[in-house]
Order: sequence, then C-alpha cells, then structure tokens
Amino acid sequence: THDIHIVGGGLAGSEAAWQLAEAGFKVRLSEMRGSGETTAAHQTDGLAELVCSNSFRSDDAEANAVGLLHQEMRTLGSLILTQADAHRVPAGSALAVDRDGYSHGVTQALADHPNVTLVRERIDALPDGPAILATGPLTAPSLATAIGDATGAEALAFFDALAPIVHRDSIDMDVAWFASRWDKGETKDYINCPMDKDQYLAFHAGLVEGEKTPFKDWEKDTPYFDGCMPIEVMAERGVDTLRYGPMKPVGLDNPKTGRWPYAVVQLRQDNALGTLWNIVGFQTKLKHAEQVRLFRTIPGLQNAEFARLGGLHRNTFIRSPELLDGTLRLKNRPNLRFAGQITGCEGYIESAAIGMLAGRFAIAELRGETLAPPPPETALGALLGHITGAAVAETYQPMNVNFGLFPPIEGRTKKADRKRMYTDRGRAALAGWISPPPPRQPVADM
Ligand code: FAD
Repeated sequence: THDIHIVGGGLAGSEAAWQLAEAGFKVRLSEMRGSGETTAAHQTDGLAELVCSNSFRSDDAEANAVGLLHQEMRTLGSLILTQADAHRVPAGSALAVDRDGYSHGVTQALADHPNVTLVRERIDALPDGPAILATGPLTAPSLATAIGDATGAEALAFFDALAPIVHRDSIDMDVAWFASRWDKGETKDYINCPMDKDQYLAFHAGLVEGEKTPFKDWEKDTPYFDGCMPIEVMAERGVDTLRYGPMKPVGLDNPKTGRWPYAVVQLRQDNALGTLWNIVGFQTKLKHAEQVRLFRTIPGLQNAEFARLGGLHRNTFIRSPELLDGTLRLKNRPNLRFAGQITGCEGYIESAAIGMLAGRFAIAELRGETLAPPPPETALGALLGHITGAAVAETYQPMNVNFGLFPPIEGRTKKADRKRMYTDRGRAALAGWISPPPPRQPVADM
C-alpha cells in the first residue's frame, strides 16, 4: 500500500518522490528502465539519468535565473542538487557533475529510503489514486496514448539532440590546449581545438553537405527548440553562424601563436575522472560514420575515439496552460499531477524543480491543506507560472527558466544592477513563502 504513485524515475519523479518520502508519505515509484525497457536517449538503469550534457548550467545565484533556481531548490532540500553538489566536476561557474556518480547517488538515496518502494515496471494506464506522472519527453507510447485520451488534446513535439563524447586520451594535446575563455590563468576548464580559415570553411561545408539521419514520418514538420539546435542546422543558417555561436574564438589565445584562432571547438569535462569530454554545442543528426569522419578533421581530434556519438530525438509535452490547474493537477482528473519536461518546462533542473513543486503540492493535499504556489518573483514561481498560466496555450513552447518569466523590475535601473535586483527580490519572496504562517489565535472559551 502507498499514499501516492509516482510514474517515472527521471529528474522530476525522483525529486517528487524524495519530497513526499521525507514528509512521511509512502511512495510507489515506478520506473520502466531496469525492467527490460528503455527510451531512445537513456543509457543506464540509474534514476535521474542525465541523457545529454552533464551540466545543470549556471550556479551563479546573484546574476542568473538558473543559479537562483539552484539556490531555491537547495533551500528546500532538493535531492537532485544534494547529489549534484556531491558529484561536482570543474566547469567554471556552471554546476557540472560526474554523471554516473550523481545518478548512482540519487538511486541509492531513494532505494534506501524507508518510505519509497522502487518498482521497475512500465505503467500503461493512468492510475486511479493520487499520482504524479513524470515520464518525461520520451514517455512510453502506451502511456502517451492514455495521456492523449485523457487530455483530449494533441501532444505537441519538437526535437532535442545529443552531443558527442570523446575519450580524453585520444585528444592530441600538442594541438589542443586547456583554457577558459578570457583565461586569467586560474581556470582551465575547457579543451580547445583551433581552426584556421581553410579548415573552418571545409568543416562548415562538411556539416552542410554531410549525410543526415532521415526523419521518421512522425518526426516531420516538428520545430526545433533553439537552445538545442543541431550544429548542421546552425551551419545552414550562414557560413559565420557557428563562429558567433559554439565555435566562437574570442578570448581564447592559442599558446602556440599567442592569438585567437579563426574558430575554436571546445570540449568540456563529462565525468569525475576526467576521462570523457563532450564537444560543447555539437548536438547533431549527422549519420554516425559521417560524424566520426568529419569530427576527426578538427585539429586535435584527428585520432578521436568517441564514447558516444551525437543523436536526435523527439520531445513530447502536453499543453499545460490549458490542461493543468495552478498546482499542476490535470483539471479533468485532479487525482493526477504532471511533473517534469512533459509539462513543457525545458532542462534538467527545471524538470527537477517542477517535480519538487508537484511533490510539495501533493504533500499539502494529502495532509488536507492547501499550499499557495511560490510567488512569481521566485525562480520556482516564475517557472510554474509559465507552465500553468502565463503562457498562451496555442503557441506554448518549452522554456528554460530566465528573467523574462519574472515580473519586470519597476522603474529605471541600470542594466548591470537589474539581475541582482531580480535575485535579491526572489530571495526575499522565497523567504516569505517558506516562513510558517503566524499561529492561529486560540478561540477563547465562551
Ligand atoms: P526523464 O528524466 O526522461 O524521466 C522520465 C522517466 O520516466 C524515465 O526514466 C523513463 O524511463 C520513465 N518512463 C517513461 N515512460 C514510462 C512508463 N510508461 N512507465 C514507467 N516509467 C516510464 N536538458 C538539459 O538541461 N540539458 C541537456 O543537455 C538536455 N539534453 C537532452 C537530450 C535529449 C535527447 C532529450 C530527450 C532531452 C534533453 N534535455 C536536456 C531535456 C530534459 O531536461 C531531460 O529530458 C530531462 O531528463 C527531463 O526530466 P524528466 O524527469 O521530465 O524526464
């Protein structure tokens, strides 16, 4: 017996399960991986697996909305952030992790929790009792059909793409060098591969002309999400687009020449050992053989061995602003909450954040209480507001957390001060939200 059923042990489901279990509720957590099932992107049976980049993005809580979201989630006892912090790898001001250590930590914490029953099973029908659906962008088709039937709405879809991962010892460090952009000598978090003009132009042509994986019928006419656009699609936009994007050379002095190269390919550490490095921004739908051939034309990667090649996958999400109420319940079946990327947020940490909120709303409901949504000035509240109300249902698109989702700062302010004003205001608002309400005055006996 359990108090609540959580379907999907990804970023959102794991965080929701933790919140409920810590509050004393019995959770059944159903995860299909480990039962012989998987998705097009997952590689392991670990909970909260990171399917692509190993970064939770900026950890700067003063000037960045993602950093503020991290801070809020730490304050509220997030399992995902506890484990991310415990398995951090160097990445400048970003929070990047050793993906296996981190996922193992999440799995262990939940498997060991006395209030969690972790069951490796695929769920095909919508649960009848209290439940949180957190099955992600790659929800198993049977359940996706059941969700479609219950919502009566067409699920929307777009593409996400995977970047390749290279074995560190196959990178030629006589050509490549360690440095961060505008390096002052303290941080050397990236491996940089320089290109001259001819090399860049040949590489650009290779991307545009290279053979791509053909679209499946059901993937045709699906728009890309700009933050995860395949590199060849970016290349098609213009010969210099990449030099102003992921291959930007500014601030990267090549120690061999003392100058910025014409273009740079950057790799970022992908595991704690430092043995695997991902090529930053190189999500792609080029055919695998084509990727190996083309990426080995990058100076320094001529002998590269790939731990994983790039790929491309569809992402499915519901039209939340129309379908969900302010506490993430399906309006026409309020025993069901949705959480994570299937609600149309975008990103690992955003998915976990919505899982955290779904868990907390469910806790209040199980206790017979109501929990007011976090104020819109907080990162949690801004993100939730986008999903459950602020966005236009017809044109609803997945969104990373950003200051554009927050109520604007009134009055004239210097641009440089504004970010700090957003985050200071958010911290004050969160403190107000979590502080317990004043005790009720006892009613005097008459
Ligand atoms: P998931 O983490 O996918 O968890 C859902 C879980 O539900 C899975 O474990 C799945 O096995 C399980 N499941 C599905 N159906 C069933 C069922 N019927 N019964 C039982 N279990 C089921 N975000 C970033 O921030 N950075 C990135 O680099 C990035 N890259 C991405 C690359 C790809 C290919 C995709 C698809 C997404 C990417 N995202 C990225 C977006 C998003 O952050 C992740 O998908 C994130 O994992 C979403 O969290 P979630 O908890 O909603 O879903």
